[in-house]
Amino acid sequence: MNFFDNHTHSEFSPDSRMTMEQDIAAAVGKGLGGIAITDHLDLDVPRDSGAFVFDIAAQQKKIAESIGKIDETIGRINDIQKGKKKPFKVLKGIEVGLQPVSVRHTLDYVAQFKFDTVIASIHFVDGQDPYFGSYYKGKTPMQAYGRTFELMLSTALEYEDFDILGHFDYVARYAPYDDKNVTYKEFANYLEPLLKFLADNGKALEINTKSYEAGVSHGVGTAKALKFDLNILRRFRDFGGEAVSLGSDAHDPDRVGNNFKTYWQMVQHCGFKYLCYFERRKPVFYRPE
Ligand SMILES: [Zn+2]
Ligand SMILES: [Zn+2]
Repeated sequence: MNFFDNHTHSEFSPDSRMTMEQDIAAAVGKGLGGIAITDHLDLDVPRDSGAFVFDIAAQQKKIAESIGKIDETIGRINDIQKGKKKPFKVLKGIEVGLQPVSVRHTLDYVAQFKFDTVIASIHFVDGQDPYFGSYYKGKTPMQAYGRTFELMLSTALEYEDFDILGHFDYVARYAPYDDKNVTYKEFANYLEPLLKFLADNGKALEINTKSYEAGVSHGVGTAKALKFDLNILRRFRDFGGEAVSLGSDAHDPDRVGNNFKTYWQMVQHCGFKYLCYFERRKPVFYRPE
């Protein structure tokens, strides 16, 4: 089906294991309608976390070249599909990291460039990367997740110039708790203002499928994957939310666009009739076919 994978990484992300060409080839091979290449830009990262910055101009030049190459190399595919499907799209994206300390700096830096799609994500909480586990020490899930949701809301309000809120449950993905799921019921106090903000401002809620794949989203203490609570999607809908984005967060070709059909069924089940992607920062709603 002609899904859009709105969250993929290329060689411009330091932790990616695929090139842009591999990313595009995987997506075309799986019959997707398009992908966004959303490399990491995290400014002012905590010490020892490595640099998550990239040469945006070089990345965008390469995307533009790739689009040219697509016309050549997959022109044939598009010819075959002519009349049935629209040409494959490669969208210029970025995944910016939200931290109180870097919001202004990141806004100024990113403003020099034009994107199709901007994902805003939390990767660091109070100077720590949950990925490494020490963040959870001495904290209950309510404390560890609650603090992250608080920061997510305050930095998203301040950053504002983004299209998609990335992996809202990143903090749970790597958590060591036996039950590490984020349910609406339990975290309603934190999720309600966040979902309302997204709905009121036409921003997309991302279903980051990496969080729900066992072995991919392993935490420090458990290899269990998260379960996505559909009530979160339902409440987003209740608040008037319309834009739902599917993103694999793929760092290697195998995961590009994986299981999107299942997620699309979940999305429809919660009352949505469309998925969306962003082109030149405007939402495009589509029904996969
Ligand atoms: Zn991320
Ligand atoms: Zn990502």
